[in-house]
Amino acid sequence: MGHKCFISFKTEDIDYKNYIQNNLDVDMIDKSLNEPINSDDEDYIMKKIRADYLSDSTVTICLIGIRSSENLGWDEQRFIKRELQASLYHGQGNSKSGILGVVLPSMYDTVYTGSGICQTCGNSHNHVAINDSTTVKEFSYNYYIPHNKCAWSEDDRYCVLVKWDDFISSPNDYIDKAFDKRTQPVASKTKVKP
Ligand SMILES: [Zn+2]
Repeated sequence: MGHKCFISFKTEDIDYKNYIQNNLDVDMIDKSLNEPINSDDEDYIMKKIRADYLSDSTVTICLIGIRSSENLGWDEQRFIKRELQASLYHGQGNSKSGILGVVLPSMYDTVYTGSGICQTCGNSHNHVAINDSTTVKEFSYNYYIPHNKCAWSEDDRYCVLVKWDDFISSPNDYIDKAFDKRTQPVASKTKVKP
């Protein structure tokens, strides 16, 4: 068993959540935020979600499907946004969690769009469409943490990204990678509410 995981997913992707639960050796909490926490105190909301839903999990796995985008709006995405915010929340008595994005097969062609020669450095960069039309900002910001270079190396990212097929072949390798980010320098550059 590896690190304890919380899975953030849209209802339409529940079959994938069930697959992880039933077929993979992943230590997971089977909970989902499904009602709003009513308070004006943001710290209270974060603490409450951590205590009642995320418990002692240290990695949040986000399933990225066709209905996971920021562009679908707050009403549609409020639960996954809150789950991710609470995961990134570094409070008293809890460290922020690692974030592992798993791109579901229906999104492969949308997210992985090939590579191209960079105008700035002349090298080839892979194009990975993690943005408002594929994920919520809590994920995309912490995947492409702003900097002034032409490309992102693995060390420039807090979120770890993997295709579903690679994830299910060795889930705990990717979970470990996301867990290890918590103590790397990039962990100081994350944002809870981008
Ligand atoms: Zn470049």
